[in-house]
Amino acid sequence: MRDIENIVVLTGAGISAESGLATFRGPDGLWEGHRVEDVCTPEALAANPALVHRFYDARRAALAQVRPNAAHDALARLDRVWTGDLLIVTQNVDDLHERAGATRMLHMHGELLSALCAACGTRMPWAGDMHDRLTCPACAAPALRPDIVFFGEMPYQMERIDAAIATCDLFVSIGTSGAVYPAAGFVRTARHHGAATLELNLDPSASSIYFDRTRIGPAGTLVPAWVNEMLGGIA
Ligand code: NAD
Ligand code: ZN
Repeated sequence: MRDIENIVVLTGAGISAESGLATFRGPDGLWEGHRVEDVCTPEALAANPALVHRFYDARRAALAQVRPNAAHDALARLDRVWTGDLLIVTQNVDDLHERAGATRMLHMHGELLSALCAACGTRMPWAGDMHDRLTCPACAAPALRPDIVFFGEMPYQMERIDAAIATCDLFVSIGTSGAVYPAAGFVRTARHHGAATLELNLDPSASSIYFDRTRIGPAGTLVPAWVNEMLGGIA
């Protein structure tokens, strides 16, 4: 295996599960009788905006009640100490990586704490509910929506992600089911470019066969252990 200098870490809902945020495909995969995927589409927002806003308002309220766990803390430590390149690509819309202190990261599926105007494209930080405050402060259209990539929309910052994956020596996937593309394809791209690949997940995922190694267990235990291995004796 070549020396490891550049690392890409992909995280999914599983890394936030021990903080108390529900994953999509677990036993809680329904929300008020709706399949979660059905409230996260542009078609749903057009047909039933009240439902979609209620769903995200509830997610935003839940976020205020939780804290980063040992896995977020360990990645933030890796970010602080690792001297090579590191990019944490999260599919999560929560802000737990940032709250733990990570900075070399991006949200490929958007953020709960950001609003996007569908009319003029303005983005703004957002806290609290959105359903009753849809008027854009920039253009006055009643067009605010969660700044979240719905199913069927293009993820953010794909060029930056592709470039990091093409040049990384190690690709690590944490707490993701490998069911949502393009993220589910990152492991194969990383391998194609010669990177070592490691998966940390509670269950074997749809992508497990593509990884050099898979470790099965909770992120709150596996991630700190892996970060300790990477940092060895470094503080
Ligand atoms: P997913 O719900 O499809 O899969 C979660 C994965 O995490 C599963 O493979 C499960 O085995 C694993 N897991 C559950 N608990 C774990 C734990 N304690 N430790 C390690 N792994 C654990 O989530 P996904 O792959 O991220 O894809 C679904 C989409 O849902 C993403 O696009 C994401 O944006 C969105 N989502 C985000 C959040 C969040 O921001 N916290 C929560 C739910 C869904
Ligand atoms: Zn606007």
